[in-house]
Amino acid sequence: MRGVIQYIKQRLKNNNKSANASASLDLSGPVVIPRSSHCISRKQISANCRKVLYRLSKAGYEAYLVGGSVRDLLLGHEPKDFDVATSATPEEVRKLFRNCRLIGKRFRLAHVYFRHEVIEVATFRANVPCKQSMSQDGLVIRDNVYGSIEEDVIRRDFTINALLYDINRFTVIDYTEGLEDLDHGLIRLIGDPVTRYREDPVRILRAVRFAAKLGFHLEEATAAPIRECAILLEQIPAARLFEEFNKLFFAGYAAVTFSLLLQYNLFGLLFPATQACLGDTTLHLPVDTFLQTVFQSTDDRVDDGKPVSVVFLLAAILWHPYLQQQYHFQAGGFRSMVAKDKACDAVLSQETHTLAIPRKMHHHIRDIWNSQSFLEERRGKRPLRMVRHPRFRAGYDFLLLRAEADPNLKETAQWWKTFYHAKHEQRIQMITDFQKHKRRKSKN
Ligand code: ATP
Ligand code: MG
Repeated sequence: MRGVIQYIKQRLKNNNKSANASASLDLSGPVVIPRSSHCISRKQISANCRKVLYRLSKAGYEAYLVGGSVRDLLLGHEPKDFDVATSATPEEVRKLFRNCRLIGKRFRLAHVYFRHEVIEVATFRANVPCKQSMSQDGLVIRDNVYGSIEEDVIRRDFTINALLYDINRFTVIDYTEGLEDLDHGLIRLIGDPVTRYREDPVRILRAVRFAAKLGFHLEEATAAPIRECAILLEQIPAARLFEEFNKLFFAGYAAVTFSLLLQYNLFGLLFPATQACLGDTTLHLPVDTFLQTVFQSTDDRVDDGKPVSVVFLLAAILWHPYLQQQYHFQAGGFRSMVAKDKACDAVLSQETHTLAIPRKMHHHIRDIWNSQSFLEERRGKRPLRMVRHPRFRAGYDFLLLRAEADPNLKETAQWWKTFYHAKHEQRIQMITDFQKHKRRKSKN
């Protein structure tokens, strides 16, 4: 990045010098960084993406690498995926690639499929507000007016996401001063922040996501209207919010993301019931301590390349609302098992209004929650059967996670760890010892 910024400063200095001599110099065009002054090499772009870029330009269309991939390459990070912007319409893209499918209604896109990769190809868009494409609140419901590259960059969300790479000239092109913001570690919306949040409130969550992922700060004007505009997220379909939830919490920065969401009063818009528990003093463990442990452990797993489970994370985030509801139903006179069932239904159906948690996940979340009391009680010979159950592992891991945040569970978690790794005879012995211990305890 340093080289790039020095190049820009030098260029601006030269321009200023010559601007004094000749008033006709045009400073409004993009900054174009030649190969010698930036770090992006074509080899860092996936072979499939290069193929897409070359084929589009050979067919006479403009085509650039855009978005997160240019940003990440300039920062020396490995891009998560490669996005392409082109002057070809989605139908024209489809004609060029047999392995292509057009998707999206609000935002029509071409997906070019390769064996292990999908390249997203978007046609240059113009951000033209018109009645048909906007709701009464200024929300963009359709964004399919095609435009020029200049129009396309300014309808993108943040300056650091609007950088282009031209594979034919090996240049980086910057229309929005994104390079300076990249250098200063700033997330800055392009255009008027309130208008841009109104057009698409998900940009609020994206701002937080990029701040957490890149360790950047939100520029003042971008941060200022967040609290006021956050409520607009209620207009976003639950399915889109569920997608965004996945991006927010499974990229390896869940702990920082959680702190930022709290800081900007956004967490409650995704998880209203959990937010309500954050201040509940009747729960014996501070909920935010538990959630921090949960998010940190998710990040550690992502770092170690271990699999992470959406079901597991949702079970953790919604655990306290579930406990709260359970107490509520028990206080209302329901037997423990019934209260648990009712609590589970209440929490999941309420949350599904906000995040479209797929139905099949509800059963798995219920299993994890139900398993906790069985694991804690260790009744009779039940542990022998439990350990053989295909879903045992998720409940067991959940108990260990709870024990990390709750000292009262340390002994139970240790018992299960030993039991899990023990041979059959040792397991029998552990059960016998535990029963004796329980009897002794109940006598005292
Ligand atoms: P990631 O590393 O998460 O993939 P990304 O910046 O590539 O980050 P994508 O969601 O893949 O994010 O989007 C690709 C690009 O499309 C963005 O960089 C941005 O330029 C543009 N974009 C995506 N979502 C929006 C939006 N809601 N409003 C405006 N522009 C957007
Ligand atoms: Mg991307």
